[in-house]
Amino acid sequence: MSQTTPSPDSLTIALLGEAVLRQHAGAVQLPDPQVSQLAEGMRRKMDDQGGVGIAAPQVHHSLALMIIASRPNARYPDAPQMEPLVMANPRIEAQSTEQEMGWEGCLSVPGIRGRVCRPLWVEVSFDDLCGQRHHTRLKGFVARIFCHEFDHLCGLTFLDRVEDNRDLMATEVWLREGQS
Ligand SMILES: [Zn+2]
Repeated sequence: MSQTTPSPDSLTIALLGEAVLRQHAGAVQLPDPQVSQLAEGMRRKMDDQGGVGIAAPQVHHSLALMIIASRPNARYPDAPQMEPLVMANPRIEAQSTEQEMGWEGCLSVPGIRGRVCRPLWVEVSFDDLCGQRHHTRLKGFVARIFCHEFDHLCGLTFLDRVEDNRDLMATEVWLREGQS
């Protein structure tokens, strides 16, 4: 890792408009204690903010590192429960042609929800923090989280996937009126 890793608690969330969110993230070499430390900091940040996923560019590190962590919480009451999964150098190997619409939010885009089309399932490969390659199949909301975080590694946010501005809502209204 070329950048100096700050302590986990000093990580700050990159917000829409910051250049790091538009860059293609670089591959990480593993194992690397600094990458493990960064992943730990990302996990804590995600937990603090009630997120169900986070990508390294969101904490100002343009590295191909992300966490998916579906669990029910105030932001996503219907989310399935899973152990947080740290994924380095992820790739989409295959995906369903069938897609479904669903609401997404993003720690880097505060205050806005958007309805976005995502595949029903994805087959992905990734490295764990030891550098071991894994293959797995993700479906439904977990596949959606993966695709959302994977987009961050490609310099995209969910706003780039919103096809109609009428699919955008203020989070405050979304929480008050529910999703349709
Ligand atoms: Zn995001």
